[in-house]
Amino acid sequence: MNVLLVFAHPEPRSLNGSLRDAALDELRRQGHAVRVSDLYAMGWKAAVDRSDFPSLPAGGRLGVAAASGQAFAAGALTDDVGSEQEALLWADAVILQFPLWWYSMPAILKGWVDRVYAHGFAYGVGEHSDRHWGDRFGEGRLAGKRAMLVVTAGGWDSHYGPRGINGPIEDLLFPIQHGILFYPGFSVLPPFVAYRVDRLDAAGFDRLETDLRARMRDLATTPPIPYRRQNGGDYAVPSLTLRPGLGAPGAAGFALHRDAPGDGRPAQETSAP
Ligand code: FAD
Repeated sequence: MNVLLVFAHPEPRSLNGSLRDAALDELRRQGHAVRVSDLYAMGWKAAVDRSDFPSLPAGGRLGVAAASGQAFAAGALTDDVGSEQEALLWADAVILQFPLWWYSMPAILKGWVDRVYAHGFAYGVGEHSDRHWGDRFGEGRLAGKRAMLVVTAGGWDSHYGPRGINGPIEDLLFPIQHGILFYPGFSVLPPFVAYRVDRLDAAGFDRLETDLRARMRDLATTPPIPYRRQNGGDYAVPSLTLRPGLGAPGAAGFALHRDAPGDGRPAQETSAP
């Protein structure tokens, strides 16, 4: 497979840097072709602004989605954005690796998403009508590709458990896994999350490295999270609410958007390459 690893940590000698090197080594051992977008090393520009749309008429009001769509259609996005889009299209699997900062991704990585996910590329794809609200959530330009998060966190795993004070990790990562990865079509694999890492010793690192290498070996075969496809019949249109009777009894919030046993259908999956 072709694997793109998008890395968001400012220090190459960090724990994240060491885990990245282990992941890349294992992927190469498995015969995969690998590319890395090391956002800090690249000096990635995180904020979307007027300079992203050089063909916008001077003095014209900036509407980001409209300008993004026009620039994408005209091939007029900036070169840094164009190369990241090309890398996404090249990849069969994409890994986003980052330390959990304030319950989310570092700003530089969010800025990568904001700029690379242009209108017409990652959103605004397909028919948009009252019958079909775009090709998204399981469909879209990146359908057929796999994606996975590699995340380190200072908190303990219990802090992110079902009754943990931080909230369940699957809820915290839902905006990234469902809103950023599943939205443009990726099949999203369960994340690799390393907890309680701030005082990690050598033995702890060895355990993490072993587990991460195993996940890299299984990258092509790990079953994805069974998120419900928007256009698979589970949602009423145009309200896009889950149809009555679907979902596990008592389920609410983010958990509703995973296929539930008993819904009468097999788990949804976009095909792996
Ligand atoms: P580093 O600081 O580089 O290393 C961590 C430890 O691993 C060090 O003790 C290092 O010596 C050791 N180590 C062992 N072996 C190796 C090796 N081979 N290579 C490198 N290091 C090794 N945590 C949360 O849980 N939730 C949050 O919301 C949250 N928000 C944060 C916000 C900010 C702004 C910051 C700075 C931190 C936050 N944290 C939070 C903590 C953060 O997630 C962790 O500090 C981070 O994940 C650690 O990863 P690192 O790569 O920076 O580790």
